[in-house]
Amino acid sequence: MLKQGQGRVVVGFGAESIVELDDGTLLRCKTHRRTGRAVCGDQVRFRQSTPQEGVIEEILPRRNALTRTNYRGQERTLAANIDLLAVVIAAAPEPDFTLVDRYLVLAEHLQAIACLVRNKADLAQTNAELEARLSLYRALDYPIITTSATDGDGVATLAEALAGGTGILVGQSGVGKSSLINRLVPDRQTRTQALSHASGQGRHTTTETTLYPLPRGGALIDSPGIRILRLAHLSVDEIAHGYRELRPFAGQCQFRDCLHQDEPGCAVQPAVEQGRIDPRRLASFHVLLRELR
Ligand code: GDP
Ligand code: ZN
Repeated sequence: MLKQGQGRVVVGFGAESIVELDDGTLLRCKTHRRTGRAVCGDQVRFRQSTPQEGVIEEILPRRNALTRTNYRGQERTLAANIDLLAVVIAAAPEPDFTLVDRYLVLAEHLQAIACLVRNKADLAQTNAELEARLSLYRALDYPIITTSATDGDGVATLAEALAGGTGILVGQSGVGKSSLINRLVPDRQTRTQALSHASGQGRHTTTETTLYPLPRGGALIDSPGIRILRLAHLSVDEIAHGYRELRPFAGQCQFRDCLHQDEPGCAVQPAVEQGRIDPRRLASFHVLLRELR
């Protein structure tokens, strides 16, 4: 019997996508031009036309969307409906905390829960700088999950954090995102084959943004595209909003468009001097602002 109803896009390639139905069926679906492009994570209404194929009749409203701006400034939507953004860091490669802050700003913008994943816990290195930074984020109420993709330690805690919704792992290259995904999605290869089969011949799904249902609930989106992240589409105010500790000072500076550098009547500068705002966070805020120009 052919079905219709609601499903979730697990891979989107342009005008076609693969929709997973409630019973686990993977359906290759077309979208009409008027419907727009469905992306990974979209909730859709579909109508099945053959056992393997169907049509997306409606893309349900997105709670949020992750976009990527390419070097020409064009925006492309990579994924939708993200609940949790997990920023992975490790003792090595040396963490780039401006990048961490950039991801946290993105999470705040998406209204997604953000957490830090400290991977490679098996590497027994005491790293005072890393510990100090982690305390800073802990003080800002970002949960920190410690993992080792090599030993499997802490992976269950990460799985638990992901179980409630749809998550994505982000972070610089080499921190262990793929290794963690392989731990979280043990049947990843089988899944990739099933997706490749469902998409028809000659499709390579591994480079596409892909949603994996997790064994203990929830889902994980693997998106190679998000690894190159710029925030060019955000405004100064949106970036400032992404710094939780700056929020109480919004609108308190003498100048409405104060960038908290050395403007007279700035409310943020004294807070830095009083130790209420970490100077490294303010410095990274300024780095992100400079990128807007
Ligand atoms: P990605 O670029 O973030 O996807 O990182 P990968 O998953 O490709 O991992 C980069 C390197 O770090 C690989 O050589 C992994 O074997 C290694 N690696 C990943 N996780 C761990 C870990 O928890 N502990 C240790 N010691 N090495 C790890
Ligand atoms: Zn100011």
